[in-house]
Amino acid sequence: MKRISVAIDGPSGAGKSTIARAAAKTLGFLYVDTGALYRAIGLAVCRRGYDAFDRQEVISVLPDIQVELRYLLDMQRVYLNGEDVSELIRTPQIAQFASRVSSVQEVRDFLLGIQRDMAAKNSVVMDGRDIGTVILPQADVKIFLTASAEKRAERRCAELREKGQDVELGQVLADMARRDSLDAGRAVAPLRQAPDAVLLDTSDLTLEESIDAVLRIIRKAQDV
Ligand code: C5P
Repeated sequence: MKRISVAIDGPSGAGKSTIARAAAKTLGFLYVDTGALYRAIGLAVCRRGYDAFDRQEVISVLPDIQVELRYLLDMQRVYLNGEDVSELIRTPQIAQFASRVSSVQEVRDFLLGIQRDMAAKNSVVMDGRDIGTVILPQADVKIFLTASAEKRAERRCAELREKGQDVELGQVLADMARRDSLDAGRAVAPLRQAPDAVLLDTSDLTLEESIDAVLRIIRKAQDV
């Protein structure tokens, strides 16, 4: 059977992971959250006490680490040198580390194979920043998911609070703006919409409406 790749890119907090996960489940595809890979490297750099803005320090960590994705009960888990770090990487501090290390070309090269391999072996819904532009330029379906900065911050805030983190909306908005500008402004693999991606703005959509819209785009393109 032909393997299908769906690439979903967009800024942080646009709802990519929740929407992509739900769409993958409906279609019976594997959901691949590529941000977790950058977060795992961010965590490794943070644990060393290194400066994530220092390219040489970031690069020096790579030969000593192994990053892996595994699936337990259909849930993606990310491993750093054999340790399950799936929860540890979900903090605002590691998000900032991830954003910084992700602008280093060597880091992106280090993670390229893992991502392409996933799509070569499975039908996937893969979310990230450069899936449609760099990782899977031949993806069958490409979607660029976005929402207003305020809506994205509100959603991210609610998500972090649900996980028990004590966060404040203004701070989340500021962190998000910083990450967005780093992601969009970097020289390597900047966040941008692929020319052949469908733009979907979820600002005024509920979660269910967003999932439906994504499924409609995929089905229309693929007849799946
Ligand atoms: O999606 P998530 O918030 O987990 O991503 C963490 C960081 O990893 C992002 O801010 C972005 O800088 C980086 N990233 C990336 N390319 C991807 C996925 C994430 O540069 N494909």
